[in-house]
Amino acid sequence: MSHEHHHPTPATNGSTDQDAPRPPKQEQEEATTDVTEVAPGVLRTQLPISLPGLGHVNCYVMEDERGIAVVDPGLPGPAAWDALVDRLGRAGYGVTDVHTVVVTHSHPDHYGGAQRLRHESGAEIVTHESFRTLFDSVADDSEDSADLSVNSFDEQIEAIERYMSRPSPWGGRRAGPNREFIERLHGERPDVPLLEPLRPTMPVVEGQTIRLARREWVAMHTPGHTYDHLCLFDPEHGVVFTGDHVLPTITPHISGMAPEADPLALFFASLERMAAMSDVTVALPAHGHPFTDLRGRSEHIIEHHGERLDIIRQASEQFPDGTVSDFMRVLFRERSWGEMAESETYAHLEHLRELGEFSRSFDDGMAHYRAIG
Ligand SMILES: [Zn+2]
Repeated sequence: MSHEHHHPTPATNGSTDQDAPRPPKQEQEEATTDVTEVAPGVLRTQLPISLPGLGHVNCYVMEDERGIAVVDPGLPGPAAWDALVDRLGRAGYGVTDVHTVVVTHSHPDHYGGAQRLRHESGAEIVTHESFRTLFDSVADDSEDSADLSVNSFDEQIEAIERYMSRPSPWGGRRAGPNREFIERLHGERPDVPLLEPLRPTMPVVEGQTIRLARREWVAMHTPGHTYDHLCLFDPEHGVVFTGDHVLPTITPHISGMAPEADPLALFFASLERMAAMSDVTVALPAHGHPFTDLRGRSEHIIEHHGERLDIIRQASEQFPDGTVSDFMRVLFRERSWGEMAESETYAHLEHLRELGEFSRSFDDGMAHYRAIG
């Protein structure tokens, strides 16, 4: 789960301009209070978030005869809620106008405001049918999961810490939020129970259509960044909500934790689908500015991960029986080392294993990878 280090910084990857100053990243820009029409009937607003590498999340507003739909209503907690109410107001709407909340995926900067919108306006919650947050996993893992939502804040945090303390599939630490992070997001005594799961009221499947902003949108299941990632496509105007699947200037983190084998292969397939779309006029990402070259951007991200697979292939000479942590140190800059980077490295190693290029063995619960041949 990408909670703390949303987008770990890759190490130098062999490109020739590795010492040149990096261009500023749009995704890091602080949220402004601007309301901008970015596609027919679609307004972009920005909500503040302070996660590493991210300064805002885009909350899109779509008007129709019933009121408005919003896409990705930001973080949980009272401060984020105030910002959401402010932006809706600047767009000319109130909370009770919201009839639908679309959540692109199960990270807190995207789904955080959804539950309270549901409480206050009765809005439908649209996600991919596989939507599942960390808190669902914790609740499933607990012996008395039925009672978790009425437990005290401290008991809920302890349940999360118990879940997080179990070893990851590669024998390292799991990536997830710590107490300080949760308190910062939700407030020290949250107004809604931490583990009150967000229940989609309109789970959608691949290819299903949904009517928003007076027209039909096609649901696209795009696993990779998370397994449950959802994009929406409006074929009439060529508008795509890309969520965190395709971002304008940073490459999304890939979680190694997925209900299916080889999440990197799933990500490649999801990116190929974006690259193959014709008649796209504008891509609307969850972070950063709207952009037009969805094909070029998708191909670039595919190439980026291809280069990273090559780095691992080369590093296998240095680490003939390397752990995920060994390869992580080659793939990422030191400031990004940690559980998130390990999870992404694991996804790459498992992809090479699925390709038949690497074998895996376990020693004392720790996965080791060896190049074959
Ligand atoms: Zn995000």
